[in-house]
Amino acid sequence: MSFDVQKIRQDFPILQRKVNGYPLVYFDNAATSQKPQVVIDSIVDYYSNYNANIHRGVHSLSQEATDVYELAREKIKQHFNAKHNHEIIFTSGTTHSINIVASGYSEILQKGDEVIVSAMEHHSNIVPWQMLCEKTGAVLKVIPMNEEGNLLVSDYDTILSSATKLVFVNHVSNALGTINPIKEIIEKAHQYGAKVLIDGAQACSHILPDFQDLDVDFYVASAHKMCGPTGVGFLYGKSELLNILPPYQGGGEMIKEVTFKKTTYAELPHKFEAGTPNISGGIAFGVALDYLSAIGIDAINSYENELLNYATEKLLEIEGLKIYGTGKEKTAVISFNIEGIHPYDIGTIVDKLGVAVRTGHHCAQPIMEFYKIPGTVRASFAFYNTKKEIDIFIEAIKKAKMMLS
Ligand SMILES: *Cc1c(COP(=O)(O)O)cnc(C)c1O
Repeated sequence: MSFDVQKIRQDFPILQRKVNGYPLVYFDNAATSQKPQVVIDSIVDYYSNYNANIHRGVHSLSQEATDVYELAREKIKQHFNAKHNHEIIFTSGTTHSINIVASGYSEILQKGDEVIVSAMEHHSNIVPWQMLCEKTGAVLKVIPMNEEGNLLVSDYDTILSSATKLVFVNHVSNALGTINPIKEIIEKAHQYGAKVLIDGAQACSHILPDFQDLDVDFYVASAHKMCGPTGVGFLYGKSELLNILPPYQGGGEMIKEVTFKKTTYAELPHKFEAGTPNISGGIAFGVALDYLSAIGIDAINSYENELLNYATEKLLEIEGLKIYGTGKEKTAVISFNIEGIHPYDIGTIVDKLGVAVRTGHHCAQPIMEFYKIPGTVRASFAFYNTKKEIDIFIEAIKKAKMMLS
């Protein structure tokens, strides 16, 4: 079956709108994806037809809501091939998920332990670990990267040791699009008994990780970058690791028994799910995964690659334009600058023409420091974008260049 992008575009109501008098060209998918009608409908359906708190009531509505919410957990488990449903913890997103693990390990790590992070992380996957190191006296080490935006795995080999306890790497860099060799990174860490957390926020709408095949210890992502709503995501962790991790927040739902002397905690996944969760968000997340699966992640990936190659070729025809992140294994993200022009000015002008791109450091200041630049313009494509939109974008960039140089 051929990839029918025009048909797919009809699923996304927002793609019909105009911005500043021009049809919207949405190339900021790495910041958040747009939502298909089925996902939007599922939220309306929940609030219209079976809104109730979950895991608590004996009444029918509560049971209905609980069943649908738990079905969403099952969908996530199946989509990513986790072993057990209780290994999927609903969170508010990637940042929340990382903080659960970092905060838990702050009670486990000791002075002199080492943790490893990569040079191309989102601030969400740097700052919680720095806080962890400050609390415990553990030492943070960094896997460096090269000019193309690839991690230097040979340097990783030399940093790893028996002192290494944890490794954190993103599956895909949000600023560069680089797909990191996470299977190799995980295998090497395991040789030293270290545990690995993969930040998959930028990966899961383009590639399909298999948690059991990767043998990954923790994997985190946000629904909103996979056509789902904001405010929901998950933490995957192997049962035996989640079981030894202390809870993150105290409250309702996460307890087995509470007395003023002592409280015992609930079993997984509830131990990490204190309070009323984002019920409609979790349900809509499940619907988003169904939607992506029906199109097929492989089909999405190969279509997006076409867009990536087409746009890269066209952009490189513009004089003075430099692309950051030129590794072979990339998702459809292009970070670039034009000599002598501030990225912010380009972003502002193309927005006047209806083109949405991101400008700035993309929450990855260490990468910008590496290239000695203040930021980049970042165009990131999704499977609902078209070559025609890329043509409009290229014309807009050329116009901006003319006006600014
Ligand atoms: C978006 C992103 C995050 C943060 O995700 P939130 O949904 O804002 O919590 C972390 N890491 C990467 C690589 C991202 O792209």
